[in-house]
Amino acid sequence: MKKQKSLLLLFILFVSFLLIVTNFYTIKVLSAARAYINGESEYSKGQKDASLYLVTYVESENIGYWHAFNKSIAVPKGDNIARTALLTQKPDSIAKQGFIMGRNHTSDIPDMIWLFKTFHKVPFMKKAIDIWASAEPLINKLDSIGNKVHAQIQSGTLSTEQRVKFTTEINFLSSQLSEKESAFSNALGETARDIKGYLLLVNIFLILLLLSTIAVYAVKTINNLITIEKELVRKNKELNETNKELEQFTYAASHDLQEPLRMVSSYMDLLQKKYDGQLDEKAQSYIHFAVDGTKRMKTLINDLLNYSRTSITVIEYQEVNVADVINEIKKIFMEDLNEPTAGIFFNELPVIRANNIQISQLFQNLIGNAIKYRSEAPPQIHIAANKTSTHWIFSIKDNGLGIEPKYFEKIFVIFQRLHSNSTHKGTGIGLAICKRIVERHGGEIWLESEKGKGSTFFFSVARNL
Ligand code: ADP
Repeated sequence: MKKQKSLLLLFILFVSFLLIVTNFYTIKVLSAARAYINGESEYSKGQKDASLYLVTYVESENIGYWHAFNKSIAVPKGDNIARTALLTQKPDSIAKQGFIMGRNHTSDIPDMIWLFKTFHKVPFMKKAIDIWASAEPLINKLDSIGNKVHAQIQSGTLSTEQRVKFTTEINFLSSQLSEKESAFSNALGETARDIKGYLLLVNIFLILLLLSTIAVYAVKTINNLITIEKELVRKNKELNETNKELEQFTYAASHDLQEPLRMVSSYMDLLQKKYDGQLDEKAQSYIHFAVDGTKRMKTLINDLLNYSRTSITVIEYQEVNVADVINEIKKIFMEDLNEPTAGIFFNELPVIRANNIQISQLFQNLIGNAIKYRSEAPPQIHIAANKTSTHWIFSIKDNGLGIEPKYFEKIFVIFQRLHSNSTHKGTGIGLAICKRIVERHGGEIWLESEKGKGSTFFFSVARNL
């Protein structure tokens, strides 16, 4: 598939290149043909002027007309020099000199030489060149009549009869040349039209080819994208299913672990009670460690159960008075806040649509952390709410230990802790639960904090639940 697409791309590049080349040569050929037609009109003018000056010279014998004749006849003679040089493969500089004499524009000359050399054997160009060549003897004849006339005028031997004869001959030659000139320009005009027609067809063909290749390429790309999207959807579904299974497994495992754990802890209790006094100090401390271990495991299992519950249970939303929720939580933490200036403070808190149990747990976790990670100062926790067009945004600000910005993402990942169990007990699950609850309420959770200066946790809850 990939190889096919690369080939198609190469083909598109190739056709585009052909299109550019074709257009380049179209323009070159047409501009050279135009230059020849312009050159022909200079040729024709030169020939006609030369004939007229010669006739006038015959009649007036004014030497000025002789000079004017020579100047004008140099134009067709120059073109003849160029043509002969090109046909006999003489250096381009000679052809160029000839074309300059023929009053062709210097910037057109390279294209004229190129067209001649490339196409002089091709019928359309050959026909024009042949007509051009056939006019050369006539130009030479006009030139030689001129020389004869001039010699006779100079020697004073030009009779009236000869005068008439020369004039007739010159006019005859001029009219013959005019015919050839118009035949030449017709041939070239026809040529230019033909070339234009062919190149237009080639252009249309190449453009159609290019468009259809691009269309095939686009269809292939779109098909590719559709396949990729389908694959993604399938993978996503699989992932969701695996996640769900994993979630169920975590839930079931933590749930089933509770029973053996209860047994271990009650038998430890029994052991302690029954053999109290009979056990030595070492045995007593072993039992103490075992009981402590079971307690910690119980907390971990409970937290894990809570974590799985937040995502697997189907939740319902109802009206929740946030102030009531906080007042209930205040009671739970009453003992932790009995220092003089400590407390949970808020002004006005809204009634929102949410799941009562989950929202209570969310606030309890965040307030619990604000107390657990307190500094020396008595904990002061400020809660506030703001309304945007789509969400409620709550903030829980504490004056505790604070968190370095580099940990802002990490702390929401399950089991990630910044404090050790020896100073602050915990499982590293609390904020992961908060994140899940917030996500189930169409919101996000984030924080602002500076180490040593307290933290403010923010979370949003969608208003359309
Ligand atoms: P736990 O409290 O059980 O360790 P959490 O997921 O609630 O787990 O918190 C993760 C970590 O984030 C904590 O271990 C603690 O280092 C840090 N943390 C959470 N809340 C705060 C807070 N308000 N002030 C300072 N650190 C905090």
